[in-house]
Amino acid sequence: MTGQPSSSGLSAGASASTEPVRRPRLFAPALAMVVLAALIGVASWLGYRLSYDTALTRQAERGQVQMRLYTQALASELARYDHVPGLLSLDERIEALLAHPRDAARVAAANAYLVALNARAGTRVVYVLDAHGNVLAASNWQRPDSYLGEDLSFRPYFHAAMEGQLGRFYGVGTTRSESGYYLSAPIGPRDSPIGVAVVKIGLEAVEQHWQGTGIPDMQMLLADENGVVILASEPSWRLLALKPMSDEQRQRLIHSLQYNRAPLAPLAFQPVRKLRNGDTLVSLRGGPPMLAQSAALPGTDWHLELLSNTMQARVAALNTAALSGVVAAFVLLLGAAWNVRRRIIGERLAARAALEAANSELERKVAERTADLSQANAQLQAEVAERTRTEAVLRQTQDGLLQAGKLATVGQMSTGIAHELNQPLAALRTLSGNTQKFLERGDYETARTNLSTIIGLVERMGRITGALKSFARKPGNGRRGARLDEAVDNALFLLDTRVQALQPDIVRDIEPGLAVVCEPNRLEQVLVNLIGNALDASESPGAQGTPRLELRATVSGGKAHLTVRDSGPGLSEDAFARLFEPFFTTKPAGQGLGLGLTLSAGILNEYGGSLRASNHPDGGACFTLTLPLAEPEAEANSA
Ligand code: ADP
Repeated sequence: MTGQPSSSGLSAGASASTEPVRRPRLFAPALAMVVLAALIGVASWLGYRLSYDTALTRQAERGQVQMRLYTQALASELARYDHVPGLLSLDERIEALLAHPRDAARVAAANAYLVALNARAGTRVVYVLDAHGNVLAASNWQRPDSYLGEDLSFRPYFHAAMEGQLGRFYGVGTTRSESGYYLSAPIGPRDSPIGVAVVKIGLEAVEQHWQGTGIPDMQMLLADENGVVILASEPSWRLLALKPMSDEQRQRLIHSLQYNRAPLAPLAFQPVRKLRNGDTLVSLRGGPPMLAQSAALPGTDWHLELLSNTMQARVAALNTAALSGVVAAFVLLLGAAWNVRRRIIGERLAARAALEAANSELERKVAERTADLSQANAQLQAEVAERTRTEAVLRQTQDGLLQAGKLATVGQMSTGIAHELNQPLAALRTLSGNTQKFLERGDYETARTNLSTIIGLVERMGRITGALKSFARKPGNGRRGARLDEAVDNALFLLDTRVQALQPDIVRDIEPGLAVVCEPNRLEQVLVNLIGNALDASESPGAQGTPRLELRATVSGGKAHLTVRDSGPGLSEDAFARLFEPFFTTKPAGQGLGLGLTLSAGILNEYGGSLRASNHPDGGACFTLTLPLAEPEAEANSA
């Protein structure tokens, strides 16, 4: 609604400002996925790290045990020869040699002793130096590469011994480039030795043992005080510098001939990480990380280095990382599912609450409406009761009115009826007087004739009073059907005096037996009104020619139509407008009440019929009454 563009150029900016409102909806799931992935990643990393460190700690513990074994083995191997140089200083042949170094017999005796000692001790070479560092006797005196006569004063073990200490030294032989462990001891008094006893031990056996153990994923090396690898399970590492070395230091070591001019290239282990227990993770030339553990070799400045492959720890860590990731994903998804469930339940509860609220609101409204309806109903019932009462009163009034109208008609007819009755009465008096005389004369025949006439007259009078009585009585509840021709006959009989007086031409066209739905007495009342009005009109001043009364009945649409036409002046405009108005009359006082047509229309309406007035084109008024045709049974009952 806000984005609806208007004619103004500003609206584009206004609508654009409402756009970004939608974005977070698309962004939210993506953000949730990123957060989820990040959490899984963190869990995996933590799992990896924890498992890796734990595995490394275990590996380090195993390594420690291993190192202890190796260092002990190595230390005891070296210690085995500690006493050998000391032994030499005690022997008198050596002493004699040092006293007379040029005496060939003493040299030979010393050499023989050294050969025997070397063989016994299992060392590589045993030899004796004088106080200047020259070799006086050696166990390998017979060999072409014998040290005999060599000046070894440059060797540090010589200096150490000359200072009265036990010398230990690893070096590579200058003659055969054979590496070995040199042990030296002073001969003679400690403060001023007269010579030095030296034992050379080969450590190949130890190295071969290391290589022979064949423990996979594990390397051992032994570095001397200069950090140069002197023994290694990996042969190519030998004589490489373990620690970074300055050029000056390297040159000095090369010149010392300790390693027989070996270049002492660096064996560069790059540190990767230091562990909490002090061990380090290192990698060689970008290779896989290895756990490096170090232990000093007792009694020496050397140290043993154990390098173990961390492959297993890494595989275990990767497994744990994968497991942690899966568990984290499961927990997070479980959390998400729980959250969704919680939200759904919340929404359901809210919907239920809303429904209940709507329900109670509906019930309240229904109750309100019901109350309103009940009230309206009660009011309606009261109104209906009032109407029924009013209708009853009206009906009563109408019945009274009808009766009054009928009685008024009777009143109007009374003069004629009196005349009608007086004539036979006068005739009766004359006839009975005459009959008396005829009887006295014995003229029985004439008397019988007179009596027959008298009976006829009495019967006629009886018929008149009977008709009047029947007309004047209140209608009963019984008959519902009436024969139209009979009703017309009765009406004409009631109006007979007036008909006799006017002598109109009467035209009757009514199918005999045609029955309509109406109480006969009521139908007669209507017909007496209509025919009475027609007679009135036909003798009124405006009437045309010979008085004429037409009574024609037709049947159509299940109804009977009876038209009463007269030869009167017809209906004036005023009369047309007010015909069915109660008390409308144009007749002089005493003749008209103005109720005849009103009551007639009322009676016909009551039986489902109607009354229509018109002027005939050839003159005279036409009144047409319409009533439903009666069922044959109803008609039969009425007979
Ligand atoms: P009343 O006959 O007592 O006057 P009605 O209700 O029968 O009462 O008639 C009302 C009036 O209708 C009459 O006074 C008369 O003016 C007029 N009227 C009725 N019938 C005819 C007719 N056939 N011709 C002319 N006028 C009539």
